[in-house]
Amino acid sequence: MGSRDDKNLTAHWAAHDLGEVVVAADDVRERIVELGRAITLDYAGRPPLLVCVLKGAINFMSDLMRAIELPVEVDFMAVSSYGAATKTSGVVRIVKDLDVDLADRDVLIVEDVVDSGLTLNYLRQYLGARGPRSLEVCALLLKEGEQRVEQDLKYVGFAIGPAFVVGYGLDVNERYRNLDGIYTYVGEV
Ligand code: 5GP
Repeated sequence: MGSRDDKNLTAHWAAHDLGEVVVAADDVRERIVELGRAITLDYAGRPPLLVCVLKGAINFMSDLMRAIELPVEVDFMAVSSYGAATKTSGVVRIVKDLDVDLADRDVLIVEDVVDSGLTLNYLRQYLGARGPRSLEVCALLLKEGEQRVEQDLKYVGFAIGPAFVVGYGLDVNERYRNLDGIYTYVGEV
């Protein structure tokens, strides 16, 4: 994982746009090792197909797949729910669909952050209709108390507060994804 320090990078951006550290880079790394171990045990003998939800989950997917000691397969989908705003519209559009067949597969959706849960609800229905043997979710971040529908998440990295966050894949207007830690965003959108 990243050899540089976030400090060298944040110097390039308006310092006042980034607020407090929500999850430090070291804590992200440690938690992903734990998640990888749990997934390795739970899916022994039935390696899952990891479905990464682009773009926010790219960093998480990249590190998580290497923390799992099973011959996993990976695929990617892109959905658009936010546009440039910081709150979901509830309308999810599939921008890129999967390339592989889900029939009889053990599918694990790899998500960056679950906020209202609307994106995930949509994805579950959409992917569930394709006949996977199982369909579970591994979310790096869960915004506590923000879900409009109860979420059944098999793996969660961290429960966080409601603030909008960036870093480790999460962006504002495509920036900040290459930070190793996760920070609140306090600038303008
Ligand atoms: P939901 O549908 O659960 O409200 O929102 C899920 C999607 O919204 C996430 O996959 C992510 O793309 C985006 N999102 C939600 N909260 C945040 C946040 O705090 N920061 C960023 N950058 N994106 C977020």
